[in-house]
Amino acid sequence: MTKVILKKGNYQRIFSGHPWVYSNEIGTFTAPIAGGEIVEVYDSRNRFVGRGYYNVKSQITVRLLTRDINEQIDEAFFKTRIEACLQYRHKLGYTENFRLVFGESDFLPGLIIDKFGDYFVLQTLSLGMDKWKEVIAKVLMERFSPKGIYERNDVPVRKLEGLPEQKHFLSDPFATKFQLEEQGVKIWVDVEAGQKTGFFLDQKENRQALKHIAMGAEVLDCFCYTGAFALFAAKFGASSVLGLDVSETAVAQATENASLNHFGKCCTFQAANAFDMLPLWAKEKKLFDIIILDPPAFTKNRAGIEAAARGYKEINLRAMKLIRSGGFLLTFSCSHFMEPGLFFEMLAQAAFDAGKTIRQVAFLSQAKDHPIVWSIEESNYLKGFVLQVI
Ligand code: SAH
Repeated sequence: MTKVILKKGNYQRIFSGHPWVYSNEIGTFTAPIAGGEIVEVYDSRNRFVGRGYYNVKSQITVRLLTRDINEQIDEAFFKTRIEACLQYRHKLGYTENFRLVFGESDFLPGLIIDKFGDYFVLQTLSLGMDKWKEVIAKVLMERFSPKGIYERNDVPVRKLEGLPEQKHFLSDPFATKFQLEEQGVKIWVDVEAGQKTGFFLDQKENRQALKHIAMGAEVLDCFCYTGAFALFAAKFGASSVLGLDVSETAVAQATENASLNHFGKCCTFQAANAFDMLPLWAKEKKLFDIIILDPPAFTKNRAGIEAAARGYKEINLRAMKLIRSGGFLLTFSCSHFMEPGLFFEMLAQAAFDAGKTIRQVAFLSQAKDHPIVWSIEESNYLKGFVLQVI
C-alpha cells in the first residue's frame, strides 16, 4: 500500500483524534496515488499514524479511517463501524429516528447516515467515502432490511472534492415522502425534496425545552421549516403558534403537519422573511410569550463570522424586544464558526441594546446522536440558549 509521509512537525491535532491531514503537512509518498485510494500515513520518524483515503484535489488530502495497523479498509470494516454506531445510539435510547453515522465524530469521515424508521438517507461528502457508497448501502441492506435508501448528495461542499451534486435511490425506488412519529408528534418528511436529509434530527432534544413554558403561551417560531418546534409548542399547550419561514414549500409542509396533528386551529404558518417581519412587528408593538430562532448557518467559513454575528444580533435583538417581560427566547446557531463564546457575547450585546435583562435558563447543544469529539472542533456546531427576557 502507498505510504504518505508527513513533514516534520507537531501533529498534536492528529494524534489527539482529528482525522484530517492537510496537503501542506504531507512531505512525500512512495508511489503515485489515485483519487480516493486508501493510503498509509507515517510520520517523519516512520511511525505508523493511520490508514485513510487520499484526494489530491482536496485541501484535506487524507482523512484517516483507522489508527490500528491491523485493521484493513474493506466491507467488514464498514460493517463493524456501522454496528458500533448503532450500538452507541441504542445505548442512549434511540430506536426509530436518529442520525446513525455522524461523520468524523463516528470515525467515518465524510459519511452521514440518517435513519427515519425503515428508511435511510445517506451523504458521502468526500471522494474517498463516495467510493464506498455501494458497499455502505449493502451493509445497511443486510443489517436493517430497510424499505429504502436514498442518496442526498446535493451538497455544495462536494465540489471541494471534485464531486458532482446528485441525489437518487440507492435501493429500489420508494415513496420519498412519508410520516414519522417523534415523541407523540406526527411529521411528514420528504427525503428527496426536503432540506438537508429531510428532517433536523439535531434539534430533537431541544424541542423538549418547550415543555412547561409553552403552556398557554403565544409562540412565534421564526425559521420554522416544516414546523417541528411549532408542533411541539402546540403539543405542550401553547394558546397560539405562528410559524415563519422564507420557503413557501416549508410553510405548506408545516401547515400540512399541523392538520395531521389536529393543531390546525392553534398553529398558523406564513411565508415571509424574518428580517422583514421582526422589525415590522416591533413597530406594531406586537408581543409574544416565546420566540424561537433557529436560523440556517449564517456563515460556512471563518471570513464570514463578522457579517454572521451582525445577522444573529439583528434577529436576537428584535426578538428580545417582541417578548413580554418574563417570556422566553429559544435561540440557536448551527454554524460551528460562531463559537459558543462569540454567540454568548452577541446575545449579551443584543440584550443590552434592546434594554433587556436576560436570565439563562438552559444551555443547549446538538442531540446525542451527533456526538462532539473535543479534538475535532468542527464536530461542535449547534449551540443554543433558553433565555428568560425581563
Ligand atoms: N427549526 C427547524 C429547522 C430550521 S432550518 C426544525 O426544527 O425543523 C432553517 C430554516 O430557515 C429553513 O427552513 C429556511 O428556509 C429558513 N430561512 C432561511 N432564511 C430565512 C429568513 N430570512 N427568514 C425566514 N426563514 C428563513
